Amino acid sequence: MTEQTDVAVVGAGGGGAVLALALAKQGISTVVLDQASGPPQGLRGEILQPNGQMVLDRLGVLQSLPADAVRSVRHFHFCRAGGLRLCSIDYGDLPPPYNRAIVTLPNVAHHAIVAAVQQQKSVTLRYGTSFTGLLREGDRVVGLSTQGPDGVHTIRAKVVVGADGAFSKVREALQIPADLYLYPDGYLIAIIESEEPISESFYYVGHKTILGLFPATGKKVYLFYMIPKGSMEAVKQRGIPALQQAWSQIAPQFTGLFQGLKDWSQTAYMPTGRVRTPTWVADGAVLIGDAAHAMNPHASQGRMQAMVDAMALSDLLPGCLADRDYSAGRLKEFERVRRPHVTMLQELADQQVFYWNTENPLVAFLRDRVFQTLDRNPRLRYQVLSTTAGLRAIPPFSSIDRVIATGFFPDIRAHEKSSHPMSS
Ligand SMILES: Cc1cc2nc3c(=O)[nH]c(=O)nc-3n(C[C@H](O)[C@H](O)[C@H](O)COP(=O)(O)OP(=O)(O)OC[C@H]3O[C@@H](n4cnc5c(N)ncnc54)[C@H](O)[C@@H]3O)c2cc1C
Repeated sequence: MTEQTDVAVVGAGGGGAVLALALAKQGISTVVLDQASGPPQGLRGEILQPNGQMVLDRLGVLQSLPADAVRSVRHFHFCRAGGLRLCSIDYGDLPPPYNRAIVTLPNVAHHAIVAAVQQQKSVTLRYGTSFTGLLREGDRVVGLSTQGPDGVHTIRAKVVVGADGAFSKVREALQIPADLYLYPDGYLIAIIESEEPISESFYYVGHKTILGLFPATGKKVYLFYMIPKGSMEAVKQRGIPALQQAWSQIAPQFTGLFQGLKDWSQTAYMPTGRVRTPTWVADGAVLIGDAAHAMNPHASQGRMQAMVDAMALSDLLPGCLADRDYSAGRLKEFERVRRPHVTMLQELADQQVFYWNTENPLVAFLRDRVFQTLDRNPRLRYQVLSTTAGLRAIPPFSSIDRVIATGFFPDIRAHEKSSHPMSS
């Protein structure tokens, strides 16, 4: 049997689920398939930046997040490993109502999106179903084939969307080459409950050392600890007390909090990778999210950018459907709108990898000076904050700002009010 739909989305993750919901709000028939047996359940840290909050608000999901699973956080303190505070960022400086970061329990936002998708008549969401290949007429993609619990299916679609993550099979089938880079460091993430919880975020940087602490709901705290790729088993072998001791040396004031780590089931490993592709579109097909542009988590924007992609594509597709134009030329408009912002964030995240992950004392010295300059310079601080918040499409620093940021030259505009964050 061949099924017909307007849009077929491969992957119901950060981007695909949002796209399905945004298309449903416009009554566009959509089939979404995901190879997983259901929505994700595993441990993962999640910070909803202001641009992600805007997307969820526009879709009516932000208000439905369970109050006991989310926490608004305003203050982020960057410190040197050992304890010295370098710089504090206040999300309260951003325009309301998105003047906070929201830390959620694992997958909470995603489950709310999926629940909303499942209520939509125009969307069919199919778990346990894998993408197996594209259907083509000449060079044009006109659908796809799937393998699921009921066997093999063919879906004819006007547009096929590859929202299937960094290792995208849709991208492969489209023969779009990808530069997939796996960073040498990933993160041990943990969620712990403590009698000494925190209400503000702390981020420690040292020599080849990063430890982030983010308050979650109630007495819960998320930890992000940088470890070399492939070393999770070795960390486990050394034991929990050794890990707690390492954390205590980085953040001595939270020694009590670290006692909340009791069991390895409170932890998970998060790999980090980057994807670059020469194009995100083909005739009848589009890539969104990590399939098109995975980035290092330093940008704190991976999931947010997948969601913003979804909204941008959902704004474009109704016109394509009305005009019956699904050509690469028409779909390229999506890439034209989105690529500059994404490229800027990928480059920024890589610069942060260079400075933040370093073990070179000179690079670490410069990094710490930049943090200390930011602490004294509201203009530059705001530019960094609005970039992390996803509200600024141009780099946070101009060439002159870079020199000023090292702290060797004064900034006569340090206290000038920054331009509106949406400026690009
Ligand atoms: C542990 C962890 C923590 C993270 N924390 C953050 C964070 O705090 N903030 C942030 O902004 N980003 C975070 N990220 C990054 C973020 O998760 C991704 O950038 C975001 O999920 C990208 O969305 P996506 O839809 O492109 O891909 P994904 O969310 O990866 O979704 C891809 C989906 O495609 C499905 N799929 C894959 N192949 C197939 C196939 N052949 N057939 C059918 N389905 C398929 C997968 O099952 C999956 O559901 C984190 C990533 C990890 C791994």
